[in-house]
Amino acid sequence: MERSLRVQVLVIGGGINGAGIARDLSLRGVSCALVERRELGSGTSWASSGMIHGGLRYLQKDPEVTRHSCVDSGAIQRIAPHLVFRIPFVMPVFAEDPIGPELVEVGLEMYDRYQPFKNGRPHTRLSRAEALRLEPALSPRLDCAFTLDEWGVDAARLTAANALDAAARGAHLWTHVEAVELLREGARVTGARVRDRLSGDAWRIEAELVMNATGPWAPKVARLAGVEVRLRPAKGIHLVFERRVSQLAIYARGVDGRDLFTFPHEQNSMAGTTDDDFYGDLDRIEVGEDEVEYVLQAMERSIPGIRAHRVIHTLQGVRPTLYGFGCYEDELSRDYAVVDHAGAGAPGFFSILGGKLAAYRLMAEDASDRLCAALGVREPCRSATTPLPGGDGTLDVRAVAARFRTPPAAVLRLAFRHGTRAEELLAPWAPASGVPPRPVCLCEPVLDAELLYAARHEGIRTLTDCALRVRLGVGACQGAACAAPAADLLAEALDWPAERRAAEVAAFAAERWRAGMPVLAGRQLAAMEIHRHAHLAARGFQAGARSARAPVRAAARSAPAPPPDPAPDPATRRTLARWHAGPDGGAEPS
Ligand SMILES: Cc1cc2nc3c(=O)[nH]c(=O)nc-3n(C[C@H](O)[C@H](O)[C@H](O)COP(=O)(O)OP(=O)(O)OC[C@H]3O[C@@H](n4cnc5c(N)ncnc54)[C@H](O)[C@@H]3O)c2cc1C
Repeated sequence: MERSLRVQVLVIGGGINGAGIARDLSLRGVSCALVERRELGSGTSWASSGMIHGGLRYLQKDPEVTRHSCVDSGAIQRIAPHLVFRIPFVMPVFAEDPIGPELVEVGLEMYDRYQPFKNGRPHTRLSRAEALRLEPALSPRLDCAFTLDEWGVDAARLTAANALDAAARGAHLWTHVEAVELLREGARVTGARVRDRLSGDAWRIEAELVMNATGPWAPKVARLAGVEVRLRPAKGIHLVFERRVSQLAIYARGVDGRDLFTFPHEQNSMAGTTDDDFYGDLDRIEVGEDEVEYVLQAMERSIPGIRAHRVIHTLQGVRPTLYGFGCYEDELSRDYAVVDHAGAGAPGFFSILGGKLAAYRLMAEDASDRLCAALGVREPCRSATTPLPGGDGTLDVRAVAARFRTPPAAVLRLAFRHGTRAEELLAPWAPASGVPPRPVCLCEPVLDAELLYAARHEGIRTLTDCALRVRLGVGACQGAACAAPAADLLAEALDWPAERRAAEVAAFAAERWRAGMPVLAGRQLAAMEIHRHAHLAARGFQAGARSARAPVRAAARSAPAPPPDPAPDPATRRTLARWHAGPDGGAEPS
């Protein structure tokens, strides 16, 4: 008989909304399971701009969305102070702009009223000379400019932090596990049959309630329950530059009058985004040359030198926007809906649709309130006041860097992602171990310590997961230099045989290649190919092929092996057993 597990709530979809709901429910003591068919946050959440803002552009038509997003941004800043960063924007105004400076300023004055909710500063008006002094990348053609204050977050890490916190509080968390069928008792939805996409294992998760939190996939999952969910999915792309192209985030205007912007993210700059109806395959979102050109053209008006910077890859996703008819994509509401499908003949089944990353916590609270009401649970929401892992204090970066003999820049990066947990992560590398942490990749200084922590304590299952979880291979080398040494470390930690290790490197290289393809051309394309093959061949791997040739363990030869991990605590052991061994590890089979 098929294995099964029983929980109060099954959450399908490990994007920011599913992870947020699982955390909220776990904080209220509700037993739940969260299944994600790929890596956490790998759908729309990772493709977002990561702004936790009210959205100046929504102010005119959707002021309530602006208000609740700003309020929730304030809450996210409180619970995850390590994961957020201030993004000062500058908005140039040109003589030919359809809206002149006076009207722009009226809009900004309105937005100022919402700034206190998210700890933002009011706007300022800059003369042409002041603007160019502040941001030399700006076009000297500008008339004047305004400053505007926003906040950003690493969306993939925010998603993982929510899911990992839920798991630490008792939730069952599975990645690379897909809900393939919904269980029914009469009309009632009573759980799902799930399948591990890596091992092929299948089992049943029985639940009193099922929450469909699958973002743009929501209509597909709803069809499993025989109900219709209508979205107006809209694709958006970003270009990711090798280095920062400006000091500040900069507004730009598309040829069609849309607002776009470029903003710094870690050592890269990102530029975007587009907003186009999308009816294609959600598992294969391609980026066309016209989209790349549209973004560059818009940016060029604000930053004339933009084309001299190297774009290393694109990031694309599909917004799960609420359905709307007769308007352009940009004009669609960014509001959200929590739907109880009982009225449509599927009691026990709910969907969460639309919304914004910036309001994820509030959306999760609303959804969890509805689920708790249906379960008869009276516990209040605690997600606005309980810090996410690592968000309970401030790390003394210099002291930790000195103690672990690690460059402060690398510790700063750990502090950004892990907050106060960075010290726990580095513990096996304490001076007594005699082995200092080493970078696996130099273009994004990912430490071996962080990678091994992700494998040993955070349930990483594939090398490709690491691009999201620790930003492996998303810098200039696009994995060419770091995929093989990272695979060596994961193979050691996760006990992968040589064939698996080779297949992981090939899959990672293929994924990074897909991300880079839309922006590679001519000599850059040739240079990247040579670079990639040279790096991988030097370590015994063949890019793009599922070669089983034994990888050369250069890392092991040239440097001491990393220290072993101290035995994980029982809670971590249980969580890891569940991640890697289906429902039997740690769960009560029914
Ligand atoms: C280009 C772009 C820029 C954006 N910028 C911003 C911004 O700056 N600020 C902001 O607030 N919002 C922004 N957004 C919106 C924001 O990203 C989304 O609202 C949010 O990420 C949606 O999260 P989600 O959890 O609903 O969906 P997703 O992140 O897509 O998560 C759904 C998950 O469900 C999984 N799944 C699907 N089917 C199954 C199944 N059968 N079994 C198990 N798992 C399944 C998928 O793999 C996926 O990971 C942007 C969106 C885009 C596209």
